[in-house]
Amino acid sequence: MKIETQCLHAGYSPKNGEPRVLPICQSTTYRYDSTDHVGALFDLSVPGHMYSRISNPTVAAVEEKIAALEGGVGALCTTSGQAANLIAVLNICSAGDSFLAVPTIYGGTINLFAVTLKRFGIECIFVPPDASEEEILAAVQPNTRLIFGETIANPAVCIFDIEKFARAAHKKDIPLVVDNTFATPVLCRPMEFGADIVTHSTTKYMDGHAVQVGGVIVDSGRFNWDNGKFPELTEPDESYHGVRYTQDFGKAAYITKARVQLMRDLGCYPSATAAFYLNLGLETLPLRMERYCQNAEAAARFLSKQEQVDFVNYPALEGDPGHALAEKYLPGGCSGVIAFGVKGGRAAAVRFMDSLKLASNEVHVADIRTCVLHPASATHRQLTDEQLIAAGISPGLIRLSVGLENIEDILADLQLGLDSL
Ligand SMILES: *Cc1c(COP(=O)(O)O)cnc(C)c1O
Repeated sequence: MKIETQCLHAGYSPKNGEPRVLPICQSTTYRYDSTDHVGALFDLSVPGHMYSRISNPTVAAVEEKIAALEGGVGALCTTSGQAANLIAVLNICSAGDSFLAVPTIYGGTINLFAVTLKRFGIECIFVPPDASEEEILAAVQPNTRLIFGETIANPAVCIFDIEKFARAAHKKDIPLVVDNTFATPVLCRPMEFGADIVTHSTTKYMDGHAVQVGGVIVDSGRFNWDNGKFPELTEPDESYHGVRYTQDFGKAAYITKARVQLMRDLGCYPSATAAFYLNLGLETLPLRMERYCQNAEAAARFLSKQEQVDFVNYPALEGDPGHALAEKYLPGGCSGVIAFGVKGGRAAAVRFMDSLKLASNEVHVADIRTCVLHPASATHRQLTDEQLIAAGISPGLIRLSVGLENIEDILADLQLGLDSL
């Protein structure tokens, strides 16, 4: 099935007389006929739901849909994008391990990786996004377990060269994890370019209406964990009376471990109601992505012609440093987020933003309504100046998340901002 059809039908097919719309199974628990059956569930020898910290029918339907959209073998929903990236890393990294990431990733992820995980003995080594394959290979240490990047970086909107990083990761027998939040599987399916694991903040375009905070991890099922480097997947799990994930779950080893071990222990599984809202958003995702791309491209072209504007980062623009990569990875459009700066730096950026009437100034992005944010004073406030530069964020950078309003109204609003300068 094509992606528009999958967005509507994957994950849930009602049988005769059942509800047409995915039902909300708002139940923490499930009844079984026998103690033996419950025992078998705990042994993971029969499929089924046992407790809604680990799985739930409504959430499972959405997981199946997202796995289909990304082309993976399985998915695990989480209560936030932060939880998704945390579990994606912790699933194969322990104290004493390291992993590589590019510094252009979302500020919240940088805090998680560079500060919080460090407290737990996991080191994040940052490599520049334009590093050569040799430089990436040289940065990989014997204890390095994965490489991490974002398809379209939040907020600098630079494009991650998925194939280059996948090649380097695979030469070192480690997986590539890609946060595909801004592109969504409608615009890019990172697994087609070599990503092994894909994560999302479903809070953003997937939901699209700003009604739930959520995340998801998708497993391609293609990484060979049996290469001697990942005993946590190939050797018996003590916390699960000797389960061997690769032997017992084959291609779904990674995502099964993430669920039955880490989700069991960390407990950040979304509610059925949250999954229901996410599913509503997913149903119209392809239609919305098309319009976000059109509106954002028009807004980016408009801004790039204004003399008060210092720079515009939007990879669909011909002169953008990410343009060639965008043509390869995002042929259908570059999503709805633009990073730009006005002449006069931080003070002018604040004046511009405070003059807007339609676009709201809020801590959100990738929403149905146009919104703006000044990363240096909000999402990236905790970053040092050095980290800001590495993330591609100048003090005057404005992140504009173009919504689905009529483009003429959006441009008129941007004109208000320009007139204030
Ligand atoms: C927002 C965001 C996150 C974090 O997701 P939450 O749902 O806010 O926890 C992670 N990665 C990217 C690219 C994001 O934009």
